[in-house]
Amino acid sequence: TKSSSAYLRKTFIDYFIENHGHKHVKSSSVIPLCDPTVPFVNAGMNQFKGVFLGMVEPPCSRAVNSQKCVRIGGKHNDLDLVGLDGTHHTFFEMLGNWSFGDYYKKDACKMAWDLLLGPYRLKPENLLVTYFGGDVVIGLTEDRECRDIWKEIGVKASHIKDCGAKDNFWEMGVSGPCGPCTEIHYIHPDGSLTEIWNIVFIQCNRETDGKVTSLRRHHVDTGMGLERLCALLQGVPSNYDTDLFRPIITAIEKNSKDVSPYSGSYSKDATLDQYYRRLADHARMISICLADGVFPSTSVNLKQIMKKSYKICSDVFHNPNLLNTLYKYVAESLGDTYPELVKRERDAMLILEHERDSYSKLRSNLRKKWKDLLKQYPEVEAFNDVELAGFALGYKELKQSMKTHNSNTIPGELVFKLYDTHGFQEDIIERIATLNNFEIDKKGFWKLLSQHKARHKTSFKEQTPTKGALFDQALQTIVKNGVNGTDDSPKYKYTI
Ligand code: ATP
Ligand code: MG
Ligand code: MG
Ligand code: MG
Repeated sequence: TKSSSAYLRKTFIDYFIENHGHKHVKSSSVIPLCDPTVPFVNAGMNQFKGVFLGMVEPPCSRAVNSQKCVRIGGKHNDLDLVGLDGTHHTFFEMLGNWSFGDYYKKDACKMAWDLLLGPYRLKPENLLVTYFGGDVVIGLTEDRECRDIWKEIGVKASHIKDCGAKDNFWEMGVSGPCGPCTEIHYIHPDGSLTEIWNIVFIQCNRETDGKVTSLRRHHVDTGMGLERLCALLQGVPSNYDTDLFRPIITAIEKNSKDVSPYSGSYSKDATLDQYYRRLADHARMISICLADGVFPSTSVNLKQIMKKSYKICSDVFHNPNLLNTLYKYVAESLGDTYPELVKRERDAMLILEHERDSYSKLRSNLRKKWKDLLKQYPEVEAFNDVELAGFALGYKELKQSMKTHNSNTIPGELVFKLYDTHGFQEDIIERIATLNNFEIDKKGFWKLLSQHKARHKTSFKEQTPTKGALFDQALQTIVKNGVNGTDDSPKYKYTI
């Protein structure tokens, strides 16, 4: 139909190809090729980083695609938002168009506006645009040119707003190509906004030492979230109600036991609905990652999300195999656009089966440890809600050292050890103290914690330039060998 995700994706790509002479460049894999500055590909522009920096020949002067993006870890980390709102996912598709030293601000804004009002039939009174208001540290003044372009296009002054660098200076990571941007938002009937499209004027580079320098050539890089666009044009309240998510949520309903159906509630206490959304989101992210050859054994991020998902499958939906079942629904939904989902299904299933089994082993192991701990210290019954791999170990250590310690106060070092080595959060340590009538040397703990944080900060600072330097090195090698990296062969070429 005319508002299906497949139709809206195709409309975007056809519009830029047919109306504006762009070439379609295939989505890269979600693995950042030779780029240690980001944990995953987080935007459509990632595969063109070398082009923007003037190190790689562009595949064409105007490009368009839908790019698989993952936003976990790094500068753009949306994991904590997933499930709470209807617009941020760990995996999403970014529709984008690029100019490599070709058209610039005016054409970019006009092309976007015409697509939204024309083929997508949005109303100008429901749209609001922002532009870069200037930043002293970055060393750029207000982007009046952009403001005036929007006026000229016909956007009402009350629908044009300036914003600071946080929202309107786009950067992919700690270093790399960047620039002022202009964002297009949808105004809902209640006045709230959803950002749909970001148009970045790539004219700078964030160097590895943090300085922002100018690029010799200017480029355009845009990105629009397909799921958000679908929600608007399908007239549904959230991305989870679009055809991209509905079949997955229905599959969760069908393949779980003793659980109420998804109600679409966003109230704070609607935790079951949050779990539906999180699992649907994670199933897409995990399936895409596995199909792209990201392994839980080499990616801590993927490993962590898989563990979280298996926990939700078992504890909430009472079906430890649910995540694995969802793979085929994701492949059905996205396989036409990203055929690797279908092509790699068997490999992905093998990994999923292995992870499901090792998770269930881990769980039964933990349960056994827990029972042993209960026998020795019956009072820990009060902590059966705590899911902590090291709980038994940490608790035993605490009890034993308090026995030999001739005061009732847990020393700061021990509190810090529980926190740092065994992963106990402060509230759990407090609960344990209360239960045992222990006091906590909080001052001692905080001192160690702040020292630890200071150390962490400097080591991060020291790391940053090295990461960028690594990318430069890798890129040099690629450039020398005349290849750019790919998901199918070690010799990547932009696939047009
Ligand atoms: P937001 O302010 O909503 O977090 P953003 O400014 O971080 O979005 P951009 O980096 O500008 O997002 O990415 C371009 C587009 O990609 C956004 O306008 C939005 O439509 C979409 N998008 C960004 N993050 C997500 C996400 N986590 N899930 C789904 N779509 C997203
Ligand atoms: Mg964001
Ligand atoms: Mg934004
Ligand atoms: Mg944005």
